[in-house]
Amino acid sequence: MTLHRSNHPLVAHKLGILRDQTTEPKKFRELVRELTWLLGYEAMADLATRPERIDTPLEPMTVARLEPRVGLIPILRAGLGMVDAMLELLPSAEVWHIGLYRDERTLKPVEYYNKLPDAATVQVCLILDPMLATGGSSAATVDILKQWGAARIKQVSLIAAPEGVGTLSTAHPDVDIHVGDLDSHLNERGYIVPGLGDAGDRQFGTFAGPASEPGHGPDDQTAEVVRRLQRDHAP
Ligand code: URA
Repeated sequence: MTLHRSNHPLVAHKLGILRDQTTEPKKFRELVRELTWLLGYEAMADLATRPERIDTPLEPMTVARLEPRVGLIPILRAGLGMVDAMLELLPSAEVWHIGLYRDERTLKPVEYYNKLPDAATVQVCLILDPMLATGGSSAATVDILKQWGAARIKQVSLIAAPEGVGTLSTAHPDVDIHVGDLDSHLNERGYIVPGLGDAGDRQFGTFAGPASEPGHGPDDQTAEVVRRLQRDHAP
């Protein structure tokens, strides 16, 4: 497993504003976008290029062209806020949506939306989720992408919890994980601490109540997943 934790001062500065509870949705969305540029730029630093001949107005030269086709897979719903920034970096990227929910009985992710064509159309997939919390959705998404035939998969998150990194890297040690920061732990309702609260609510302005209330933010079953993670990944 390779965990890349950004040490860029701009990332640290912008994360500080993002985490602040007084930051309003408009500013929050702008920061998600700016942080995604910075982390996306780092996550794509090792993409292969191939040489191509072109003519400048002055003379011919060999330039570099990106070799792999890249797919963006936002984890619904908070990952949607990262898509536009990635498309600005890489306008030719394909955006594929995979919908997962957690089965209340088994606590396992169940697929409810997947329109991936039979064979993979991209070589590199970037899974986008601002918060890598339990890691369950990411690990299940990687399962689907590997079955599809994606050769290389990376996770890009603004903030991660050690539990989420543990789940994803245990299930898929070959997946590179790029994060802006690694926080302390998950609380009993699956929120990253200190974190920033609910990244979906803060982007989309859907504040039904305090993040700690049942029915708001991560679902109730998350508590069970967190207990299991705490058992499995105890230091
Ligand atoms: N999802 C969020 O939006 N925030 C967390 O802290 C954990 C999961």
